[in-house]
This record gives sequence, structure tokens and C-alpha cells, in this order.
Amino acid sequence: MLKRLGVSEADHEIADAIRRYAQTELAPHAAQVDHDEIATTRYVSALAELGVMGMNLPERWGGIGATPAAIILALAEIAGACASTSSMIGAHYLATDSILIGGDDDLRARYLPAAAAGEKLGAFALTEPQAGSNPAGMKTQAVREGDGYRLRGVKHFISNAGAAQFIVVYAKTAPEHGTRGISAFVVDAGTPGVTVAGAEKLMGIRGAPAHEVALDCVVPAANRLGEEGTGFRTAMKVLDNSRLDVAATSLGIAEAALGDAVEWAKQREVGGEPLARKQGLQWVFADMKTRLEAAWLLTLQAAARRGAGEPFTDAASMAKLYASEMVGFVTDAALQMHGGYGFTREMRIERLVRDARILRIYEGSSEIQRTVIARSVLA
Ligand SMILES: Cc1cc2nc3c(=O)[nH]c(=O)nc-3n(C[C@H](O)[C@H](O)[C@H](O)COP(=O)(O)OP(=O)(O)OC[C@H]3O[C@@H](n4cnc5c(N)ncnc54)[C@H](O)[C@@H]3O)c2cc1C
Repeated sequence: MLKRLGVSEADHEIADAIRRYAQTELAPHAAQVDHDEIATTRYVSALAELGVMGMNLPERWGGIGATPAAIILALAEIAGACASTSSMIGAHYLATDSILIGGDDDLRARYLPAAAAGEKLGAFALTEPQAGSNPAGMKTQAVREGDGYRLRGVKHFISNAGAAQFIVVYAKTAPEHGTRGISAFVVDAGTPGVTVAGAEKLMGIRGAPAHEVALDCVVPAANRLGEEGTGFRTAMKVLDNSRLDVAATSLGIAEAALGDAVEWAKQREVGGEPLARKQGLQWVFADMKTRLEAAWLLTLQAAARRGAGEPFTDAASMAKLYASEMVGFVTDAALQMHGGYGFTREMRIERLVRDARILRIYEGSSEIQRTVIARSVLA
């Protein structure tokens, strides 16, 4: 593996071990996972044994306390083999990061070690049918009822919800206070009044199903993350982290697409010579590689800032924006080089194009990242 600037030997070793697992256990099944829409939650136990399900958690809470750079490298390796799996892991991190950042030690002890061990899978429920890019517009309410809260509302596109043992749900405890009236709750699967609908029919990452979740249930007050009204702040911090995870997934898919294009261009002959000999395509390769390397640098820079405990909201948004747009370009260019063959399901590149498309949409679309970046530039 190429040694990445500023990344330690130990982090590269973690990534090497994960690459070996991903290439032998995930990559060979990725086409079938996609075709048959097999949920990649089937890999949770094995991933937990490798430390992946708790990579984002400190050792105190059962994790391996990996550096942000190690998480980037690991998720890129996994995404290069099976993007549905990295997406499933990312959704789990959204849930466990919520508890780590917003919860008290009691909640952390109840959920995080089991989550890291692969015994409890998490889901993160922020989006609603009428509130995606603008989560402040959420309608779900949490109203105090005795020792608990009654949660009422509908969450939409919730990854992992069909298999999760717990869902972190964001709801309004004080609708009149806007974003300061949002709180977060851990809702156990099987709580009466929690209804998870069938999986959406997705274009890509078809092994990472997303579901609608209808709520009319009571959760104990002890399952609230932090004080009332702190939920929005928690969610924004969690999304800073997860935007790096999406950037990492973009890097992994782009590496795979570039690899496929190189192999194809060397063996496919047109007009008596391999495609790789045509200057017009060589320049496309140069652009693919340059943008891919630029995305690596932006992502690892944001990871370094996160690791150093510095503010990194703008850096995470720039990494997510650039890397997710980059993988759109790289996968499309790679498919173009495959000609008609690239448009068939025989070729992996067809799946990579579809898997990459979500990365510009979830965890804050490209437009929302630009809004975040502009806010920081103009501040
Ligand atoms: C497969 C999948 C998995 C998901 N997993 C989860 C999950 O686990 N948990 C969760 O909570 N959510 C999840 N989501 C939801 C996802 O985060 C939202 O779909 C996303 O934030 C966009 O929201 P929306 O779909 O409502 O689009 P909208 O908010 O309706 O936006 C539509 C378009 O308008 C653009 N737009 C919106 N506002 C502006 C603006 N101010 N300026 C310019 N353009 C703007 C958007 O960028 C977008 O292109 C998932 C979605 C999918 C498809």
C-alpha cells in the first residue's frame, strides 16, 4: 500500500490487516450483495473481531481508540471492496458517536462496549420525509410522560434500522426553541410503538438498506443524551466525523474504479493499439489520479485536525464535498473507458458508479457542504 503523508506506520499496519480481510472476504461477494440486496450486517461479527465496529471509540468504551487517519484508511479499504459494507459501518458510527459525544457514562456503558463487540448494531435517525437538508424542520416530538418521554413522528431513510438493536432518534422537546429545542434519545429495537418499514429500493449501496421508522413509543428519561436541547449540537458534531467517513468511502471507491480503468485500458485494443496508448485517454488518467490524490490530502488534513482536537467542521465539509464529487468524476470516466462493456452488469464499474452516487447526497449534500464552507470563509 502507498504510504500516506503524515500517517503513522501503526495506522498503515491496521489498514493492511483490514485490506487483507476486505479483499478476501468482502470483495468476492460484493456483486452478489448488490444484485440480491443482501444486507452487509452479515459481516458485523467478523468486522467486530477486527476492531472495526469500535474503531471510533476509545478503549475505555470497548473500542480500539484508532486515530482519525486509521479510520480513513480502514474505511477506504473496505469501500474499495464493498461500499455497502463501509456505508453500514458509517451508519453504526453515527449512532455510537452520538452516544459518545452526547451521552453520559451510564449510557456509554450500556451501549458502546456491546456496539464495539458487534453485539449491538446502531442506527441514526435524524432525517424525516419533510426534513433532510434542513433537520431543524423536523416534526418528531418528544413529550415528557412520567419517568420517560413519548416520541411521536416518522423518520426516513434510516440506514441499518432493519437490523439495529438501538436507534438514536433526534426529536423536538421544545419546538418553540428551534435547534435549541432538539434532544436525542436512544431507542431500543423492539420497544412497543417502533415500526420499521421494509427497505427502500436503492440505486446503489444495495447491501446497506435504508428504512422508514414510525415512532409512537415511550423511552425512559435515562435514555436521553445529555440535557434537553443539546441534541442538535450533538448531531452536528457527529456529522463532522461522519463526513470524513463518507470522504473515505469516496476514496476507496475511486481507487477501485481507477484500478479497473487502468487494467482495462492496458488490455483493450482499439485501432490496433491498447487504449492506454491513446493520449486523449492518458490525460483523463492524469486528471483522475490528480483529483484522487487531492481528495486524499484534503481528507487526511481534516483527519489530522480532528486528531489534534482542533475545530475541523470546515475541513470535514471540504473533504466530503471534494472527495464525493471526485469519485463521481473518476467512476464516470472509468466507465466511459470501458465503452459499452462498462454499461453491462458484467463489469464492476457499473456498480461502482451507482454506489458512488449517494456520497454527494447523504450526510449533507454537496450543496449543504458548500453552505457550511462558505459560512466559515465569510465568518
Ligand atoms: C441511502 C440513504 C441512506 C441514508 N441514511 C440516513 C441515516 O442513516 N440517517 C439519517 O438521518 N438520514 C439518512 N439519509 C438521509 C439523507 O441524509 C438525506 O436524504 C439528505 O440529507 C438530503 O435530504 P433530502 O433527501 O430530504 O433532500 P432535500 O433536503 O429535499 O434536498 C433536495 C435537493 O435540494 C438541495 N438543497 C436543499 N437545501 C438547499 C439549499 N439551502 N441550497 C441549495 N440547495 C439545497 C439538496 O442539496 C438536494 O440536492 C439517507 C439517505 C439515503 C438516500
